[in-house]
Amino acid sequence: MVDLQGQYKKIKNEVDSAVLNVMETAAFVNGPEVANFQKSLETYLDIKHVIPCANGTDALQIAMMALGLKPGDEVITSNFTFVATVEVIGLLGLTPVLVDVNLDTFNIDPKSIEKAITSKTKAIVPVHLFGQSAEMEEIMEIAKKHNLFVIEDTAQATGAEYKFKDGTVKKCGTMGIVGATSFFPSKNLGCFGDGGAIFTNDDELAKTMRSVVNHGMTVRYYHDHVGVNSRLDSMQAAILNIKLKHLDEYNQARRTAANYYTKAFSNNSKIKTPTVFDKSNHIFHQYTLVLNNVDREGLQNFLQEFGIPAPIYYPVPLHLQKAYADPRYKKGDFPVTEHLCNSVISLPMHTELDQEQLQFITSKVLEFINK
Ligand SMILES: *Cc1c(COP(=O)(O)O)cnc(C)c1O
Repeated sequence: MVDLQGQYKKIKNEVDSAVLNVMETAAFVNGPEVANFQKSLETYLDIKHVIPCANGTDALQIAMMALGLKPGDEVITSNFTFVATVEVIGLLGLTPVLVDVNLDTFNIDPKSIEKAITSKTKAIVPVHLFGQSAEMEEIMEIAKKHNLFVIEDTAQATGAEYKFKDGTVKKCGTMGIVGATSFFPSKNLGCFGDGGAIFTNDDELAKTMRSVVNHGMTVRYYHDHVGVNSRLDSMQAAILNIKLKHLDEYNQARRTAANYYTKAFSNNSKIKTPTVFDKSNHIFHQYTLVLNNVDREGLQNFLQEFGIPAPIYYPVPLHLQKAYADPRYKKGDFPVTEHLCNSVISLPMHTELDQEQLQFITSKVLEFINK
């Protein structure tokens, strides 16, 4: 699904010397690379504060802890997402309130958000799924009207943008009170292990989050909050510093590959290609098709014979997962999410796809579909 070796080869000299430098200076934790990366990412995102942490799941958890969300508080999020989003809500004793998604964009549906709001609702967590921004203008309006926090899960959309009606363009993760992202190797900005970050323009919240990531300390050995230990190590920061310079070019390479796929599959009634909504510049963390009347498992097995992976993101909606089963929800409650879980399939998507590979993949998909 990804070609991390191919991507590494192109920046090998730079990465190797940065990593060696960390080893030689032995500043493994909180070394200067971490501060450098933090600054570079603040500039790139045009945000006041970036707080690096250990992974994207921690990033979401730290954001919710720092915002002071308490057991019983309701947090609205998308039912069609990676489990981490709802996992941290559960872990903190908050109540996840799931809502359905838009059939075309796979992102949380603002109308369904509004219907799910109660007197206990404290936050909305939109996920910019597969690299495309959620409908942030509508979501921010709802949040303002009901006085709710917006915590953006931007793990799949680092570098993606959203355009407001007045023409303002903002990066995903910088529109809500806080954005949380992941630098897992396969993400659009990935390190060589685990990593994550939280971003905000709010000075007070930034201060609290900096304290929460470090055992709730502001002054050494004085603990003002219950915190966690969640750090981005210096080697990962050194690598991310190099890769951040290439992020726009990486995202453009993904878009080029996506355009190839979409052109090859256009006018095929059995395949619905991704809808790129006009306010967002999709950065294709995943390239995901919706199949119509196709034996999905058959297609997966057929592609597998030719070494083409085609996984399902995501096969089971959160409300039908054993760990998140809840008497409030039953099968059929989220028709769009359930339909998508039964009919989506993702194709290889990364920065190193060349024309020959794309031609091979699309011809094999069409061979099976048109059979
Ligand atoms: C990857 C991902 C996360 C979690 O990130 P980790 O770094 O793996 O903990 C959270 N949310 C979404 C939508 C993701 O894709």
